[in-house]
Amino acid sequence: MRVGIIGGGQLARMLILAGYPLGLRFTVLDPARDACAAPLADHICAPYDDRDALARMAEDCDVITYEFENVSLEGLEELEGRTRIHPPLQALAESRDRLREKNLFRRLDIPTAKFLPIDDEGDLGEAPKTLGWPFLVKTRRFGYDGKGQILVRTAADMERAWRELGGQPLIGESFIPFQREVSMIAVRRRNGDTAFYPLSENVHKDGILHVARCRPGDSQTATAQDYARRLLEHLDYVGVLALEMFEVQGRLLANEMAPRVHNSGHWTIEGSEISQFENHLRAILDLPLGDTEPVGHAAMVNFIGVLPTLADVLEQPGVHCHFYGKAERPGRKVGHATVRASSARALEARLHHLLALLP
Ligand code: AMP
Repeated sequence: MRVGIIGGGQLARMLILAGYPLGLRFTVLDPARDACAAPLADHICAPYDDRDALARMAEDCDVITYEFENVSLEGLEELEGRTRIHPPLQALAESRDRLREKNLFRRLDIPTAKFLPIDDEGDLGEAPKTLGWPFLVKTRRFGYDGKGQILVRTAADMERAWRELGGQPLIGESFIPFQREVSMIAVRRRNGDTAFYPLSENVHKDGILHVARCRPGDSQTATAQDYARRLLEHLDYVGVLALEMFEVQGRLLANEMAPRVHNSGHWTIEGSEISQFENHLRAILDLPLGDTEPVGHAAMVNFIGVLPTLADVLEQPGVHCHFYGKAERPGRKVGHATVRASSARALEARLHHLLALLP
């Protein structure tokens, strides 16, 4: 069986690495000649909205999936009926617009921060009446890793937010003084079978995920599963879905969802029986889902911008290294490591040693 992946970055690369033992073959579509998944697959080097390239993928592949949200929705819509596309395009359309996404959460009774659309300067001026101070202004589209958002604490910030972000559809959100950030990685097969990984507890640095810890038995597990399940069922979802949430005063508030494998689930490669990558492939190929049970205590550390020295990482006990084969550049995700240990305390000690190696 051949799987087509739109996007040839590290998520595609890890999907491919999970699929080879199952005998799967892959085609990736990515305009970058040096896309990091390209050496592992047939690479169609063309823009994401190239109709001929998409048609070729549909012809060659049993199923098409995507590794990021800013693919060509229109291009994929044209392929519907010609090949299977998972996750569903409705999930893609909802998740890539922060306002649509928050409205979907609201319709499904999934709590969020207060929010409102900001279409002009007048809306921005009125926003604090509903949102209170401080609040965040975010672009509705193309934001990721904290990009395209400004924290507004004063009237001067408000002017700056309009100067830097105005002229495109925006959303205002109340600022949540959260105790922690968590995510639920869930997977659903076409026949409705669903599985959930243990909750991930996530620490961000400069808006980018820094450390994710697997939290089996977390007190918020049932609530997080309930919210994820509402989305999966509503969207008649197939594949892995990630739901990112804030915990504030014992409540979970949904921040965003990603209709794909997710950075906060990378620890599942070594930290669970069957990884999010393999389970995504199983789900989209309509194969039995694998066990999501944790294996020991696990956490993940992202390597952002620069890589530590390979030998230094490999010297650490319980550490599994993933370098993505990407050029180092500030703010770019170039690798990660999973740390595993037999107790929570040993895990923290190992994490501490690994973090000390980061440049
Ligand atoms: P996002 O691009 O929405 O994932 O936001 C990136 C990061 O900014 C999140 O992981 C949070 O750390 C922070 N953030 C986003 N929205 C809010 C909010 N409403 N209140 C507080 N922090 C937020």
